[in-house]
Amino acid sequence: MNREKLLEGKAIAGRINRMVKDEVLKLKKTYSFEPVLCAVQIGDDKESSLYLDFQQKMAQKLAIGYQVRKLSADTGIAGIIAVIEELNRDSSINGIILQLPLPRHLNANDIRCRIDPIKDVEGVHPENLGKIILNEKGLAPCTACAVMELLNTLNIDLYGKEAVIVGYSEIVGKPLAAMMLNAFCTTTICHIATSGRGLLAAHVKRAEILVVAVGKPGVIKGEWIKKDAIVVDVGINYVDEKIIGDVEFEKAYERAAYITPVPGGVGPITVALLMRNLLYAAKQQKQEDKL
Ligand code: NAD
Repeated sequence: MNREKLLEGKAIAGRINRMVKDEVLKLKKTYSFEPVLCAVQIGDDKESSLYLDFQQKMAQKLAIGYQVRKLSADTGIAGIIAVIEELNRDSSINGIILQLPLPRHLNANDIRCRIDPIKDVEGVHPENLGKIILNEKGLAPCTACAVMELLNTLNIDLYGKEAVIVGYSEIVGKPLAAMMLNAFCTTTICHIATSGRGLLAAHVKRAEILVVAVGKPGVIKGEWIKKDAIVVDVGINYVDEKIIGDVEFEKAYERAAYITPVPGGVGPITVALLMRNLLYAAKQQKQEDKL
């Protein structure tokens, strides 16, 4: 396999992490304070707890403080909002993240829109999402930004490119579509109804840039990939104790100009950008820098 075709995230994440650590150390020196990220976990989903451990290790590596606020699975919306408001007021907390999945009785957006936008390091508050539409700088969803970071490293002209995004979630597909429009890509979003009408293959086949964020292994067939396309596979699927993406990798690899591996593509950059958002949030709160 010619590794030059692989769009790997590790080196990009490493570069972002080094920048974040340097800046955090500078902030500590100037203001004698440690930027702190607080994760709110409701219930004790096993995978989410593993992700919390991972976040904690990353934060430690970058000299960032890390706290977890654990609430029981039966906490009602009023109790959760009271905790979010307390964290909003707490000047020692610079970033708040809501850990998913949530227990069934809760809706993530009801909680996300109560986080102070200046502490919304996941970029999911309506104010921060709105800034993407307006092409203004702000705290933006980390995975959508990770895709743009990957594309930027290729130094290709995005102007007028046919971009197809499969998946329209609030954290990936929708904000990414706005970012790609801002970069003047001709942007199409496909979703479950596109497949329902049997039109997914036709859209994918004309994609010069294809981004897939569905969560179904093999949903994109290798033979659909346009020759020399750039393929970014955001999907994470656990199959036979292995992690794989949404795109049939081997066949897609033959046709693509560049393709992300899963794992090792978008994932490492997403976590690095979460910590970069925390740095930006902390700086803004200290009025060190405008975003
Ligand atoms: P989601 O789970 O909220 O929604 C899935 C999307 O896929 C929906 O828009 C749905 O319409 C679409 N879809 C479902 N079946 C489809 C089909 N057959 N054809 C076309 N579209 C279909 O989306 P999400 O939260 O963005 O997560 C998507 C995937 O990305 C998951 O595997 C998730 O684990 C992964 N993810 C990875 C990272 C990372 O850092 N690598 C970050 C976030 C999400």
